[in-house]
Amino acid sequence: MSSSDYPAHFELETVHEVSDPSAGLSGVIAIDSLRLGPAAGGCRFWRYADRAALVADARRLAEGMSYKNALAGLPLGGGKAVLQRPHGEFDRARLFAAFGRAVEKLGGNYVTAEDVGTSMADMAAVAGATDHVAGLPPAAGRAGGDPAPWTARGVFLAMEAAVQRQFGSSLEGSTVAVQGLGNVGYALCRLLHGAGARLFVAEPRAEVAERAVAEFGATLLPANALFSAPADVLAPCALGGVLHEGTIAVLKARVVCGAANNQLATPEDGARLADRGVLYAPDYLVNAGGIINVAAEHLGWSSDEAAVRIDRIAQRLNDLLDQADSAGMPTNLAADSMAREIIAAGPARSHMQQMPSRASCTAR
Ligand code: NAD
Repeated sequence: MSSSDYPAHFELETVHEVSDPSAGLSGVIAIDSLRLGPAAGGCRFWRYADRAALVADARRLAEGMSYKNALAGLPLGGGKAVLQRPHGEFDRARLFAAFGRAVEKLGGNYVTAEDVGTSMADMAAVAGATDHVAGLPPAAGRAGGDPAPWTARGVFLAMEAAVQRQFGSSLEGSTVAVQGLGNVGYALCRLLHGAGARLFVAEPRAEVAERAVAEFGATLLPANALFSAPADVLAPCALGGVLHEGTIAVLKARVVCGAANNQLATPEDGARLADRGVLYAPDYLVNAGGIINVAAEHLGWSSDEAAVRIDRIAQRLNDLLDQADSAGMPTNLAADSMAREIIAAGPARSHMQQMPSRASCTAR
C-alpha cells in the first residue's frame, strides 16, 4: 500500500478500542493524523491507573508521533498503541498475536513497532497476524531490528551539534548526565564514552547502573541529584515530564538533549529553559532515529538509506535552532510550528482509504 492511498482530508483524530479479554488484551490504538501517510508509532505496554489515563497518554503520544514523523521527513502520519499490562500471569505471545489482529483490522492505516514495555519478540508475535509491523529481525542489507541503537545514534549526533553550538567545542572532555540506562540510554552512554565524554548516570536497576560504572567509569547519582549535578549536558532517557519549574530551577547543564518523549512537563517549560540560557534540543526531533529505522524497514529502504537519514538529524537540529533564534522563540515552540507547517503542506492524496469507524476494533 503506498502513502498516496491515504486521504488528504483525514485529519480527524480517532481512538480505536482493542480488546480480547480471553488473551488479556485491552487498550487503544490512537491515530492522530494520516495526512502524510499511514500513522506510524510504537506500541506501549504499561500499567495505567485507569482507562482515562491510558487514553490520554495514547492521544498525546500519537500527536507527538505526527510531529516527529513530519520533522523527520517521513511519508508517515502519527499514531500510537497503548495497551494495559495485565496484573498476574498472562500469555505474552497470545496477547500480542491478538493485538496483531487488531492492527490488521485497521487495513494498513496504522503501523506498529516496539515502544516502552515491548520487545522484538512481541513484534514477532504481532507479525503472525499482520504485515503492518516493524522492529522485526532485519534481513541482510535491509533496515530493521531493535530501533533503540538508532535512536541513541540520532541523540548522540544531535548532542554533538548542540554542544558545538552552545560551547564551541566537541563532546570530548565534556560531562553528560544521563537519566535512565535502558535500551537507548545505555547505548548512548557507550557512544559518549567512545567520544571521550565523562558521565553522570541515574538508574534504579542496580545491576545495570553498576555495569555502566564498570564499563564507562560513570559516576552513579541518586535520581534527584542528577539535575543539579555539575554537567554540561542533561540527557533525559527515562520518563516524560522531567523538566518543570522545580528541576529547571536547579539545572546546571546548559544543553538538554535526550531520548525521552515529552520531556517538558508543560510547553511553558521551553521558555523557562531558554530564560536560563539552556539550549533545549526538542525531544521528538532528536529521538527520531528509531522511527526512521522503523520507517525504512516498513517502506523497504536499505539500512544505508536509513543511516543517511538518521545522520541528517544533526543538521535538522541546527536548522531548527537557527529558526528559533531568528524568530526569538523557544525551541520547543519553533519545532511544533515547523512540524505543523510540514503536515499542513502534506502531499495531496487521491484515494479514500476505508477506515473502520471510531468505536470498536476488537481483536477477535
Ligand atoms: P527502557 O524502558 O529500555 O529504559 C528506561 C530506563 O529508565 C530503564 O532502565 C529504567 O529502569 C530507567 N528509569 C526509570 N525510572 C527512572 C528514574 N526515575 N531515574 C532514572 N532512570 C529511570 O526505554 P528506552 O527504550 O531506553 O526508552 C527511553 C525513553 O526514550 C522513553 O521515554 C522512550 O519513550 C523514549 N524513546 C525510545 C525510543 C526507542 O527507540 N527505544 C525512541 C524514541 C523515544
